[in-house]
Amino acid sequence: MNITEKQQNLLRMLPGIDHILELAKTEPFFEEVPKSVLVRSSRLLVEILRMEILHNKEGIPEKKLSDVSILEMVKQQVKEAMTPNLIRTINGTGVVVHTNLGRSLLAEDVVENLLTIATRYSNLEFDLSKGMRGSRYSSVEDILCELSGGEAAMVVNNNAGAVLLCLETMAKGKKVVVSRGELVEIGGSFRIPDVMAKSGCVLKEVGTTNRTHLKDYEKAIEHDTGLFLKVHTSNYSIVGFTANISLEALVALGAKYQIPVMKDLGSGTFIDFSKYGLSKEPTIQETVAAGPDIVTFSGDKLLGGPQAGIIVGKKAVLDEIKQNPLTRALRIDKLTLAALESTLRHYRNLNKAVEVIPTLRMLTLPSDDITTKAKKLEKMLKGINDTRLTIQRINILSKVGGGALPLLNLPSKGVGVIIKGITTNALEKHMRNNHIPIIGRIEEDTFIMDVRTVNDDEFPTIKKAIEKVLNYDH
Ligand SMILES: *Cc1c(COP(=O)(O)O)cnc(C)c1O
Repeated sequence: MNITEKQQNLLRMLPGIDHILELAKTEPFFEEVPKSVLVRSSRLLVEILRMEILHNKEGIPEKKLSDVSILEMVKQQVKEAMTPNLIRTINGTGVVVHTNLGRSLLAEDVVENLLTIATRYSNLEFDLSKGMRGSRYSSVEDILCELSGGEAAMVVNNNAGAVLLCLETMAKGKKVVVSRGELVEIGGSFRIPDVMAKSGCVLKEVGTTNRTHLKDYEKAIEHDTGLFLKVHTSNYSIVGFTANISLEALVALGAKYQIPVMKDLGSGTFIDFSKYGLSKEPTIQETVAAGPDIVTFSGDKLLGGPQAGIIVGKKAVLDEIKQNPLTRALRIDKLTLAALESTLRHYRNLNKAVEVIPTLRMLTLPSDDITTKAKKLEKMLKGINDTRLTIQRINILSKVGGGALPLLNLPSKGVGVIIKGITTNALEKHMRNNHIPIIGRIEEDTFIMDVRTVNDDEFPTIKKAIEKVLNYDH
């Protein structure tokens, strides 16, 4: 690379780290800043300035390298380094169970108990009635059995872990029969065939993509067949000329040949969503009632709790699973356990659960309430007095997300923003880079926020963000 003389001079003027550290001593702001942060921020700043000089034949203004300017820029770097990387966002996408935005939000009272368990000692693995060591899972096992109808239950880190653990326990070194129509890939590289390989089982595919019959399963049975697995095709749907056997039929076949049956529900739910005008997802209770040995599902999809993998089913199988050393590796954390127990308790009253569990509340929000919310946000944003701004209410479709009810579009309302002189892409970027990032979507050259997934108390933040975009020097 050819460097001009000007660039060379500027590079020579770049401050050394020691010099910046000396400068920082003159400024009270840095008193409480850890030295490691200051050193890292200084190095980063010098590197940024070096790149700026090198990428610019004309160099940069000399005064940018003055002590005052350097000190100010280091301050900004330090501020950035001191703010957490994991921060809250506003979800204007309308995708309720948005895996990239944290899936489910916990109910308020769930958080109260979580806080107590986090900051106090607890009976996590202590049996208070006997005064001796107890089981980590006992706190949720009873309620899970009560709600699901299963004989026994346990929980692990997430559902992918639950599937791995169950396969490893029940069928390691044996063949596992799965329909070709159910070889699911969930986002984030969870593929049934890969999990199968990791668990030491041998996948035996049967049927075709669109049609699998009972006789396909029966023909596949060999001396070393260890398990029938059914996977809920949670994030896609096969439509048209299709055939699939019921879980009951597979359970009956399993009983005839003494082969256990497992069902991975993916996104489990205790709620019959068809009662709320949504399409039907098989409930956990119905699935357990069909009689498989094991059912697995997620804690943070339609259930609306913390990340967890839940296993319910026959006691004999669960006893074996609890003995598996993998269980320790996939162990659920006490904070998760606390949040999960409180969330599950809400399901004793299904009507109340739908009100207090945010995931359920957002999914079942009546259309009148959505319209009211949209009008409120629209009115607030129209309160910004700027002729460049166009605000409009738009009919849009929300998605459930989290690989659940893939074909379902929920009619919803969005508020669209157009600013004259700013491209929609630039607007989207500004909103995304807000101190509380606002994630929306772009449709028909408009930045749209679906109010289904936005809380009313977040509206003022949205307003401020748009005002900031308008006052920004473009
Ligand atoms: C989501 C899903 C999983 C993985 O669950 P996580 O809780 O995300 O680990 C496994 N199987 C199916 C069918 C799923 O939908």
